[in-house]
Amino acid sequence: DKTPSCHTSDNCTLAAPELQWSNDGLPVSREFNDPYFSVENGLEESRHVFLQNNGLPQRWHDWQGDFSIIETGFGTGLNFLMTWESWRHAEKNDSAWLHFSSIEKFPLTLQQLRQALALWPQLSEYSALLFEQYPLPVAGFHRLSWPQERISLTLIFADVKDALPQLSGPVHAWYLDGFAPAKNPQMWSEGLFSGMRRLSQRQPLQYGGEQPASVATFTSAGFVRRGLLGAGFNVKRVPGYGRKREMLAGCFNRRQGPELTPVHQHKPWLLNETTNLPPAQITIIGAGLAGATTARALAERGLKVRVIDANGIARQASGNPQGGLYVKLAAGDNAIHTDFYLAAFQYALPYMRRYLGPGDGDSHNPYWSQCGVLQLAYDDKETQRQHKFSQTRPLPQELVRTLTQEQASVIAGNPQNSGGLFFPQAGWVSPAELCRVLLQHANISFEQRTVDALEATPQGWRLHSTEGALDSRQLVLACAAAARTLLPAAYLPLKQIRGQLSYLNAEQTPPLNTVLCGRSYMAPARNQRLCLGATYNLRDDETALRDSDHQTNLNHLPDFGPQWQALNEQQGMSAILGGRVGFRCTTPDYLPMVGAVPHSQAFVRSFAGLVRNAKRIPAKTAPHYPGLWLNIGHGSRGLASAPLCAELLAQQIVGAPLPVALDVAEALWPGRFLLRDMVRRKLPQEL
Ligand code: SAM
Repeated sequence: DKTPSCHTSDNCTLAAPELQWSNDGLPVSREFNDPYFSVENGLEESRHVFLQNNGLPQRWHDWQGDFSIIETGFGTGLNFLMTWESWRHAEKNDSAWLHFSSIEKFPLTLQQLRQALALWPQLSEYSALLFEQYPLPVAGFHRLSWPQERISLTLIFADVKDALPQLSGPVHAWYLDGFAPAKNPQMWSEGLFSGMRRLSQRQPLQYGGEQPASVATFTSAGFVRRGLLGAGFNVKRVPGYGRKREMLAGCFNRRQGPELTPVHQHKPWLLNETTNLPPAQITIIGAGLAGATTARALAERGLKVRVIDANGIARQASGNPQGGLYVKLAAGDNAIHTDFYLAAFQYALPYMRRYLGPGDGDSHNPYWSQCGVLQLAYDDKETQRQHKFSQTRPLPQELVRTLTQEQASVIAGNPQNSGGLFFPQAGWVSPAELCRVLLQHANISFEQRTVDALEATPQGWRLHSTEGALDSRQLVLACAAAARTLLPAAYLPLKQIRGQLSYLNAEQTPPLNTVLCGRSYMAPARNQRLCLGATYNLRDDETALRDSDHQTNLNHLPDFGPQWQALNEQQGMSAILGGRVGFRCTTPDYLPMVGAVPHSQAFVRSFAGLVRNAKRIPAKTAPHYPGLWLNIGHGSRGLASAPLCAELLAQQIVGAPLPVALDVAEALWPGRFLLRDMVRRKLPQEL
């Protein structure tokens, strides 16, 4: 299967469709010679075909938990918006959440979308909210979220046949809305039907009892009907809308059609073993970026969250006054790495707007700024890396573009020695402020205490500390490298890296308009102080500031051009006002660890056959510690990676559709090093 992403698409940036606008303003695809919606009354037809024939909104009345819809063909988003409108007004449970996933191979530009949706002024409130988060046409998964509305949209920019194998499910209703089968037979293929079968089988019992997934489509074409019947859907021809006499609707029946084992579904370690309702309450250890973003995501889903930290809120690396919100995208082969960080970065931007307010130039927001990030090509190696990156992954200019030395100097506000890669929407954030804002939620409580040890009990987890013991059925460890101390039996090869920041007096420094990255990074001044750093020291526990590390930071100033070089030469250590030491936690592959934690010995016993043949994956679920979850290893990129990881973990905990491709979820799975080293026969003796 091809992952829908930058590395497998012919191009990272998908082409917009060529549209023709009819006299009454309807968009018509030139390629398929077919309109995006009905000429008669698109909105009414949408409601009739997709809502009513999936039994909506009635099915929402007593729905428990999350309701998941998957659509083929997002197009103008009309179906999504009319579903949102119906969802908002439906009588439903307070805890219900709507997950709408939609696949689109030819995403409309924002301008095309605005023009098409202008036809529906009655939906303007919803379309305005969609425009705010509508992504650039980058191949892969995009997560959009409106927590106050209890609704999220996962837009997958890819071909349907590549996207379906990467979706996790569950699914409760299918909207099949490609262009007419006769004009687009390639989409209405066997890959569509088998993908639908795989996902419809994954119907966890916890939601809505045993209600099977429903399906509705505007077409009544014979081969679509036969395809759906063959995949296990009891579909019938029912009256269509307006002049269309017939359409298809029906329900999935798992006893009909070929048997599917978990292996066909995906790698067994990603299958959610939860069979009960999601937990009502949960404890999180760690109140840095990982803990605070996770707490917020769970609190917004209605869980009562207790956050515990030995040192207070955002006291480790997340307590730096400013942090760069940007990603260093890998050039070359590390495709999953780039897929993850690209998705995470794009998710983080509207996230910061949601919780910290606008961050653009006019907003003068004290807590974050989209002043841009310029990654300088400061030496030959970095120049080659950037060149390779631009060649292999052409991305939209709005996301990242290559600057010449002259352009870089203008954007930075002072002369530069080199050009570089510029991320215009990126910038800096005050991570401590973000953590504080995120933790202000009626469902979140915070407690300062030191947890010394964890004990598994029949009811869940006991947290031992000098203040006494606490019990919790469900537990998230978001405490960076301390997770290894608390879970000594888990196989977590984490590294702790000391970082020292140096503060420079902004009155004495050259002007700076954007975040600059060379060997160190530097953000425009905040409160008359400019942050420079941070150092990178493995196996170093020193918490006190060191002059030698200030000197290391100063030695990197020449990367930022002659004025900064002069500052170093003329002022040296006297330019330094102070600094801060923090400890980052990274993993051997520089991806965070997010998800359930395998029980090492039980996992090795269960999957020992993989040592002989790594490709023969047995059809059984993996033994994980019950009720234990991890969100750690964000290194120095937590501002970009934590929001999406929190969303991923929250969805795993409540058993709802994942916001990333299954390949990405697997790449973040905390058991990956155990599996890798087991297959390579490199595990320690005791395992
Ligand atoms: N549901 C849409 C709405 O509410 O506006 C209308 C969908 S339009 C009739 C069909 C959509 O399917 C188009 O946007 C088209 O680009 C998309 N599409 C067609 N073939 C596809 C494929 N193989 N994979 C993904 N999307 C496809």
